[in-house]
Amino acid sequence: MKTILVTGGTGFIGSNLCKRLIKDENNRIICVDNNYTGSLFNVKELLNDSRFKFIEHDIIEPLDIDEKIDEIYNLACPASPPAYQGEKAIFTTKTCVLGALNMLELAKKNNAKILQSSTSEVYGEPLIHPQVETYRGNVNPIGIRSCYDEGKRCAESLFFDYHRLYGVKIKVIRIFNTYGPMMDPNDGRVVSNFICQALRGEDLTIYGDGSQTRSFCYVDDLVDVIVKMMASEDDFTGPVNTGNSGEFTIKELAELIREKVNKDLRIVYFPLPSDDPTQRRPDISLAKAKLNWEPKIKLSEGLDKTIEYFDKKLKGEI
Ligand code: UDP
Repeated sequence: MKTILVTGGTGFIGSNLCKRLIKDENNRIICVDNNYTGSLFNVKELLNDSRFKFIEHDIIEPLDIDEKIDEIYNLACPASPPAYQGEKAIFTTKTCVLGALNMLELAKKNNAKILQSSTSEVYGEPLIHPQVETYRGNVNPIGIRSCYDEGKRCAESLFFDYHRLYGVKIKVIRIFNTYGPMMDPNDGRVVSNFICQALRGEDLTIYGDGSQTRSFCYVDDLVDVIVKMMASEDDFTGPVNTGNSGEFTIKELAELIREKVNKDLRIVYFPLPSDDPTQRRPDISLAKAKLNWEPKIKLSEGLDKTIEYFDKKLKGEI
């Protein structure tokens, strides 16, 4: 039996990961979250499981656990621009940097393997397309997104220094846009916004002209690759891109969701936030070659499942 610590465990990806880790194997899960963007709602079916323990804690502060930890998945960080920017900006940088430091210390003390959820945002406004892991990125260091982008870049740097200096076993994945059940309806990201707006009969809000692109990965596919990455050979540290390589404009996404939910909805346009990347698509050759992984769920199918989830959630049925 392994004891696995998941930070950000009540968040969107973290809660899906906790459920997989408990279901698939004989694991004990310690779920750590400050519930800033996460919620116990996301893990409510696990709360009575004796193999699941929830600790309310902010990883900006050191964490001492009085039992041996085998693996750490460091997922804690607000990930939606409205949640991580503005008044939360300094908190976001601290979560990325001090959180990584504290979790690396815990990994070092326990001789545990540790996986960092890095991000496609390390590429900033990418000048090469699709993005490969060797691309060093084009991040504005002083912009409104930099608390997240630079925070995550610094966390990668810390991971590799702990690996080089102390031999900590590290795994770094760069997660591209992900969606699916357990997203917060008020999260502010595009998939949750469009679906919730559509289900409520509201206008769909496109920022900019909708020509910017993103690649959307269904959360089950992402959880598959996260678990595979943790199980990979120790000498494979990454960074490795994890995401779906299907690329869509935001306008195409709006039209697809409108088509699925309510054809009469209007699309309205708002200004594009600054530093919003104009294009993004992962090159996933490395994940395919090293982890024998590629996403299985197409956008249309994943959206159907996500619409079903939000429909129940907004009606208060779950
Ligand atoms: N976006 C949009 N309408 C919304 C929310 C987001 O047009 O209601 C745009 C946003 O400006 C960005 C894209 O959708 O270009 C993806 O935004 P999201 O916040 O989901 O992810 P990120 O920008 O971090 O990739």
